[in-house]
Amino acid sequence: FKNMFGFKKNSKYVKSYLNDANVKSSIYMSFIVICIECWMIYRQTRKYIKPMWNNYSPYTSRFQMIFAMTGLYWLFIMCSLGMFIFALFYVTKKRGKKSFITNLILGSLCILWILVLIPEINLPTYASSTNINKITTILVYASMPIFGASIIGNSIYRRVKDKDNYFLTIMVITGFAFVCLLFGIKVGYSDFAHEPVIKDGIINIEKVKMITCFLTMIIFVGCLLIYRPYLSLIMLTGIFVMFDLLLQSYGNREFLEADRINYYTFLISLSMINISVYQQRITEAIKDEKLIYEANYDSLTDIFNADHFVDVIKEKEAQDPSFLDNKMFLFINICNFKAINVQKGFAYGDKFLIRLAKDVQASFPKDYTARLADDHFVVLTNVDGFSFKIDVLNRLVQASSDGLFVLLKVGGYKAQRGENPFRGIDKARYACGKIKKTYGQMYKEYDTELDRVFNMRQYIVNHIDEAIEHDYIKPFYQPVVWSSDQSLCGVEALARWIDPVYGMLTPGDFIPILEETRLIHKLDKHMLEVVCKNMKSAIDENKPIVPVSLNVSRIDFDLMNIKNELDERMKKYNLDKNYIHIEITESALSDNPESLNNYIKELKNSGYAIWLDDFGSGYSSLSSIKDFIFDVIKIDMKFLNNFGSNEKTKDILDCIIQLTSRLGMLSLTEGVETTEELEFLSSIGCGKLQGYLFSKPVELTEFEKLIADEKLVISKNLI
Ligand code: C2E
Ligand code: MG
Ligand code: MG
Repeated sequence: FKNMFGFKKNSKYVKSYLNDANVKSSIYMSFIVICIECWMIYRQTRKYIKPMWNNYSPYTSRFQMIFAMTGLYWLFIMCSLGMFIFALFYVTKKRGKKSFITNLILGSLCILWILVLIPEINLPTYASSTNINKITTILVYASMPIFGASIIGNSIYRRVKDKDNYFLTIMVITGFAFVCLLFGIKVGYSDFAHEPVIKDGIINIEKVKMITCFLTMIIFVGCLLIYRPYLSLIMLTGIFVMFDLLLQSYGNREFLEADRINYYTFLISLSMINISVYQQRITEAIKDEKLIYEANYDSLTDIFNADHFVDVIKEKEAQDPSFLDNKMFLFINICNFKAINVQKGFAYGDKFLIRLAKDVQASFPKDYTARLADDHFVVLTNVDGFSFKIDVLNRLVQASSDGLFVLLKVGGYKAQRGENPFRGIDKARYACGKIKKTYGQMYKEYDTELDRVFNMRQYIVNHIDEAIEHDYIKPFYQPVVWSSDQSLCGVEALARWIDPVYGMLTPGDFIPILEETRLIHKLDKHMLEVVCKNMKSAIDENKPIVPVSLNVSRIDFDLMNIKNELDERMKKYNLDKNYIHIEITESALSDNPESLNNYIKELKNSGYAIWLDDFGSGYSSLSSIKDFIFDVIKIDMKFLNNFGSNEKTKDILDCIIQLTSRLGMLSLTEGVETTEELEFLSSIGCGKLQGYLFSKPVELTEFEKLIADEKLVISKNLI
């Protein structure tokens, strides 16, 4: 009930939604009124003014005659035009100088017209008026200046504050509604009472019955302008009663009882329509409000989401270009949030985040805060005093940690004018990521060194496809030799990115990034393709070939079907599987041992040799060779680092090589740079060697030249 009659309080959004809807309706309404009134003026001119042009009695002048015949219609046109233009500017949000002046002129005209009209209105036809008729007449003329003044007031407000005034907008529409209603009464009553009729060039006032003008206006207002129902009811009933009284006051003619019943039934139906349209608009507005809320706010924590955060910043910056001066983006992360989720369950995790959002807002009052995703929050704050605020946040977080171990990490980036806020957030996030594993450091600022790496990272991610397409990425070949006679038994293909901007990029520059962004399979597929193609052309040109080992990343197994990719190339280029080896790094083994083991088995069963790369560089070394028989174990070059100075190195290498041979696997040591190393390694029975001593990774043509010049001699025993 409360809702039905509109007593319930509406939110600001719903209020302005209803107001906007009314302004839009006013556009149609005022446009139609303008058309009708033009037609009315034409009718009056043709029917009365023209025949009376030379004999204008009983009027004192032609001017007065025209006024008497059309003055009210002109008034109404002026008013509708004012409304029409006002509403158009409102809807299109035009608030420039032109719209200001136009509104000002129209508003003033509405007021001035009344001043012109009043002295001219004192005509014989009005002399016999009853009190109620006089009251209505006064009301018609009074609502005009109120309407005009509201338009002027609002256009000044628009100009100064660059937005519309809610109250004045309502006043404009309501002013217009009253002009319409009272005009309806006025014309309806006049027509009911008397209409001038010309006979033989002489004007006679005759009685006619016509209240449709009143009804038309009341439908207009009742159906198009929707206020809170109780207000509309009061307004409509008041007007109906007023018109009834007016008709009664005219003694000569009786308002039939049947007519009166229909008349008030009309009021009731109109009110029903009004209420139902109100309900419909309210439902729409609430739905709309909810959608907007969901699009702009994070559903869990009720603070801004990333998109809205960025939109707000962009908007502020558009209004004030210096908005971002002296501001910082802070990226806030709880490092071990996953553990909390696992330990305490998701429901607890959610509560934790809600509390965290409150803590962030409390530590950065008056700053913009948003939740990006998971436990990641972002803040735009002043450079002054931000580190104090971070300390406050940390204290709050620790205080509400329930005894859990909570690790707060914050990355900061000084905002730049004109830079996309998303990029600012990314940089703060990047800085934050850099201290993820640094114990005891809570804050890191994005500095020039980070900037270099960050830009490089962006560059790599954005250009990997182009680099592959244009063959900027090529395999360089590094020979693998038998330790016994240093004859060539294979070659490792190592990726080099020769970039038109950055020059030569080595795997250390791009492989970690490609792995992180899960793009590494693109590179590895390309390397496989080029290596196979090169091998095929060598065969076609009758050049000698040796087996090539290719590096695959651990996540390649998730990103592509390595076996299918290999099989495809073998078929396409008609190659022998014995000539392709797959190097898998140790970290690959530790990720998801079960399924990875299956993949490796599958590869091995279908005839590819599987090598374990960088053995001994991680901590799972020994367990990784426990479950699986590799064809070759590549011992990490770290072991040779201090070969000369550290006696233990030799013992360790000796043990590893014995261990691999006991397990039935072949050993290869990487990074051999000196002849002492070579001699030692062959003395302890390391099968294969690789390193700068034999050759650096070189381009294909150079590698072929090494063979042609017999600097490298191909072994008879390749596999
Ligand atoms: P890795 O497979 O262990 O490759 C051996 C690395 O040691 C190569 O570095 C090679 O240039 C370097 N090296 C060889 N002999 C010596 C030496 O005597 N002294 C020194 N100081 N270094 C030597 P690079 O080419 O920079 O490759 C680094 C890593 O990048 C490789 O380690 C491999 O894991 C990865 N990688 C290279 N190419 C690819 C590829 O196409 N795909 C994938 N997924 N990873 C690749
Ligand atoms: Mg390798
Ligand atoms: Mg290696």
